Amino acid sequence: MRNAFHFDTKIIGIIGHPIKQSYSPFIHNVAIELKKLEYVYLPFDIPSSNLKSALRGMTALNIKGFNVTIPHKESAIQYMNSVSEEVSMIGSINTIVNDQGKLFGHNTDAYGIFETLLPFKDDISGNQVCVIGAGGSARAVIYTLIRHFKPKKLFIVNRNERRAENLKDYFSEKMKFSSIRTKELIPPTAFEVMRDSKLVINATPVGMHPNESDSITTSTDVFTKGQIVFDLVYNPQKTLLIKTAIRSGAKTINGLNMLVNQAAKSFELWTGVDFPKEDVQKSLQLYLGN
Ligand code: NAP
Repeated sequence: MRNAFHFDTKIIGIIGHPIKQSYSPFIHNVAIELKKLEYVYLPFDIPSSNLKSALRGMTALNIKGFNVTIPHKESAIQYMNSVSEEVSMIGSINTIVNDQGKLFGHNTDAYGIFETLLPFKDDISGNQVCVIGAGGSARAVIYTLIRHFKPKKLFIVNRNERRAENLKDYFSEKMKFSSIRTKELIPPTAFEVMRDSKLVINATPVGMHPNESDSITTSTDVFTKGQIVFDLVYNPQKTLLIKTAIRSGAKTINGLNMLVNQAAKSFELWTGVDFPKEDVQKSLQLYLGN
């Protein structure tokens, strides 16, 4: 990183708690360096009790933008002057743009999911899809699938089926999509749903570091050739679920792709400059030792 910051160096960053696990400072500072911009991207560890004052400080210090991560993705919405259409549908933000003291909330996870799945659009449209999880990222996944990919039927499979039911009711009403079904995440029925789905998306942290030996399934009977398995977990890149899907002959997508795509959109919202996606992805893979 350049060792020269000036009076006009613009600050962007990420707020969350904890924050030390985030790859975003690496990703954005590499992009800033490659594009030779007068920006710096910093991590801010902000507990919930300090969220409001941190956002006030953001405008006072003229910080140009923040990424927002756990646990502030929902609670930060109340402090925005305005939010995007995606945010009003999904109910969470991951990016704030400070436009002369006015805060605009965006959800670029939805864009990251869209870009990642776009090459598979023909496979998804008109077919059954299965989303495992009913948390914040599952909401962005469900919104994006219904809005852009027109699946025939969408299953929400979750450990707590009540939460899945709540999402079903919410999206059926909000997006006028009546083909949502739910299942509890227990075999054998959950596995049958996965087997019958063209696309299976893991939107839970199962398999994430340091619990790499956990997996939604390790059975090679669940997936088949011609299926697509997308794991939002990006650390490790090859989760046990992805390894299981590969062994079954399914196509796989890891979470790193989405991570870089959502970062690209945030970067472009803050700087107005194209994000150097391929170069950043290569740097990130070197950084992660792959
Ligand atoms: P979240 O809001 O906390 O939701 C977690 C979901 O996972 C809930 O549905 C929960 O089920 C389920 N879950 C948690 N532990 C489980 C377990 N042991 N067994 C079964 N289900 C379990 O989390 P989130 O923000 O949606 O994030 C989920 C994952 O996506 C994380 O690993 C995160 O790193 C990843 N992510 C990746 C990207 C990317 O760019 N690649 C972006 C965002 C998130 P219950 O409802 O039953 O509790």
